Amino acid sequence: MQINGIHHVTAIAGPARRNLDFYGRVLGLRLVKKTVNFDDPSTYHLYYGDEAGSPGTILTFFPWEHAASGRLGVGETQETAFRVPEGAIGYWAHRFVELGVVHDAPEKRFGETVLPFRDPDGMRLALVGLPGIAGEPPWAGAGVPAEHAIRGFHGVSLLIDDAGPTGAILSDVLGFAEVARDGSLTRFRAEGAPFGGIVDLRAAGGFLPARQGAGSVHHIAFRAADDAAQAQMVRRLAENHGIRATEQRDRNYFRSVYFREPGKVLFEIATDAPGFGIDETPETLGQGLKLPPRYEARRSQIEAVLPELN
Ligand code: ZN
Repeated sequence: MQINGIHHVTAIAGPARRNLDFYGRVLGLRLVKKTVNFDDPSTYHLYYGDEAGSPGTILTFFPWEHAASGRLGVGETQETAFRVPEGAIGYWAHRFVELGVVHDAPEKRFGETVLPFRDPDGMRLALVGLPGIAGEPPWAGAGVPAEHAIRGFHGVSLLIDDAGPTGAILSDVLGFAEVARDGSLTRFRAEGAPFGGIVDLRAAGGFLPARQGAGSVHHIAFRAADDAAQAQMVRRLAENHGIRATEQRDRNYFRSVYFREPGKVLFEIATDAPGFGIDETPETLGQGLKLPPRYEARRSQIEAVLPELN
């Protein structure tokens, strides 16, 4: 069955070990897959998520030891937000003070309590406290108490010149609908998405263009149930919006197409299948270094150049 919403968010980071410490220990996400950048196997590709690595909970990083910092600008994701139970915001504000995480005071957006913070690379993140989600299963294996743990994505906000054409693609191709406006922000929601159902478009005409680097989001992936659903989205994109997606690429854990949306943000459409259980059991997710078949023969050379994570 087709469920819409965000599948994963992929960002660029500095040193891998620092990235793992922040997302695994400080935020308490599960490292669900440790693999390499398929286009450059000398660098990691780290996937964090919930216990099962469900679509809509997956934040992935390409960590580069010496990455230059990015500069936020138009044509880029401004902020990536996670959902936590409403009562957990106080716990997190306290935890951020205790652990020295850069953060702002909680604020209200669209009636929701939002706690903005940054990762060690300056990536803009937020926790959004939501009612009625305390029963969603948390990953409590990392030391954050279950009642406060991150449940998955809330959504992303994109900084773009003009919300119109991007909004049309969210609505017509990706299964979202416009649900609210607040100043220069337009909120889109994917009905029925358990996680990652929100995309906020912030129209910021005249702002400087983005420069990608450490702390920048590289792309946002949206969900397609399977190859047929993905092909149908690709057809609508071409026929109704004149945008051609790439050929499908096999990412081992999902199959993907990519396109640059009119606001210049890189979008991906990723299949829910086969998922992260394809090469590890639920208990051992994220423990081994997983390589795509074409790199297996070079495993020992690849392992020798990858930085230590522990
Ligand atoms: Zn991706």
